[in-house]
Amino acid sequence: IFVFLIGGIIEQAVEAGLSMSFPVRVVPVGEEIWSVGHVISLVVRAAMIFGAIQPGDVEGFHKYTFDRINAFVNAYKPVNDITVACGAGAIKLGFPVITNDHDDMWAVPKSLIIYDNTKDWIDTSIEARGIKLKITKIDIPVSFSSAFEGEIIRKGDMQVEIDGSRKDCFELVTTKDASEVEDHKIVVEGPEIDEIPVGSKISMSYTVEVAGKNMQPDFEPVFERKIHSFLNCVEGLMHTGQRDMIRVRISKADFEAGFKFRHIGEVLYAKIKSEFDTVVDKCQVRIVVGDEPNAALRKHANEVFDKRDERLKSMTDESVPVFYSCIMCQAFSPSHVCIVTPERLGLCGAVSWLDAKATNELDPQGPCQVVTKERCTDERTGRYEDVDEAVAQYSHGALEHVTLYSLLEDPMTSCGCFECICGIEPCSMGVVITCREYAGITPLGMTFSEMASMTGGGVQTPGFMGHGKHYIASHKFLKAEGGVGRLVWLPKELKDQIRDKLNETAKDMYDIDNFADMVADETNCPNGDPEELLAFLSEVGHPVLSMDPLDI
Ligand code: SF4
Repeated sequence: IFVFLIGGIIEQAVEAGLSMSFPVRVVPVGEEIWSVGHVISLVVRAAMIFGAIQPGDVEGFHKYTFDRINAFVNAYKPVNDITVACGAGAIKLGFPVITNDHDDMWAVPKSLIIYDNTKDWIDTSIEARGIKLKITKIDIPVSFSSAFEGEIIRKGDMQVEIDGSRKDCFELVTTKDASEVEDHKIVVEGPEIDEIPVGSKISMSYTVEVAGKNMQPDFEPVFERKIHSFLNCVEGLMHTGQRDMIRVRISKADFEAGFKFRHIGEVLYAKIKSEFDTVVDKCQVRIVVGDEPNAALRKHANEVFDKRDERLKSMTDESVPVFYSCIMCQAFSPSHVCIVTPERLGLCGAVSWLDAKATNELDPQGPCQVVTKERCTDERTGRYEDVDEAVAQYSHGALEHVTLYSLLEDPMTSCGCFECICGIEPCSMGVVITCREYAGITPLGMTFSEMASMTGGGVQTPGFMGHGKHYIASHKFLKAEGGVGRLVWLPKELKDQIRDKLNETAKDMYDIDNFADMVADETNCPNGDPEELLAFLSEVGHPVLSMDPLDI
């Protein structure tokens, strides 16, 4: 939500001590009515950037502003002729005008509303514009709004950090019998935030237990993935990651405002009860803080995550009638779209095809939409006209072509949530993968963060691509480039996590036993340079050495 102030109202707002700036989303634009041009410029740019409206397409522009930009104008008297003209322009864009000036003014239902009681203007404006608001009261000491999604909390501003890459952490939603759930029970086991030294990295888990007649375990991962956006709406709190790879920073400002760990539970309770009210009757939250209890709890949580991943095992991209899109990460990466298939889960690792399907069932207008797969134009790269159309639509025109199985030809974009990132290693013509947990350098001479900077933010960068851990052992992984046989290096810990599946896939595809042992890591290539890597690959007879060179 943005409020733009134009004219004498700015002076009144200054006198009243109103906080105004872009970060608080109340913007004093200018004293003169002409400054409305800046607002119109913003509207035009939004239509071009997010709606792919071309210069000169007046009809398309008006349709976009009417359908997508929920704006309205409040014009306080006296309204002069120039302001009336600007108001008429706003009406043409689909933005109703509400005024208390009766002079020479003719009311037009739903477009020009003359109404004296200015106290009711916001409600009248919202109704005239057809904006539907769902207000959830959340008992926390700081603001809660989608305006805070994307807020970055720097290291120096953070009170504590819940860091899944260094400590045992996780977030989990689980279904219980109604008799086991006490509605709105929030418990914190372990120290509260005011008992922890400032700047600490801590181990925390939060488990949301839900019960409801219509609740299905299939919905659990869907709720879990929404935790990302629920917590990011808290002012002064930043959440990234999912499952046992979460990172949550709570700011010093929140701490000073009285924010406690218990408030994380309040947010999760309120949002899950309000957003999923059709299936959740009761909800309770258990927050555990501390290394020791979370080590055991994390193990159990990972078993739950593994079981979910197992369910997908028998499904292939060919055996399902449709794929799904996911745009949950557009708060951070406005043009990013994941296409989720049974053999390619979302790059965050938390949205499988089944999760996307359940999301669509729970909220048919929500972030996951059906993508048909009728018009395949290239099986090798996984190129579909249907997918291109979906990506163009959901990226608001930022992307036109995406393949499902290629790293070099129109690869899928990456937001900031990917579990892993891969990149071409030119000496071996293979592919190097690293993951968020691995802080070391790869044979590309780059760390995870450096590789991530090549492709984050919804940008398509052939040769680099973010992806989920479980995608690596998929038969569709880099299918266009020859498959998982291209994999030449990955961190040991990640290799051990996917070892069995990796070996199974390589046996299936190339009839190779123990392929994981042919893939280098930081223990058998300690220098991490390309010469050492090549020597290792030759020694073990890695299949990449007999593959065709990549077209780079
Ligand atoms: S990474 Fe992709 S699948 Fe995961 S939440 Fe973001 S958009 Fe959805």
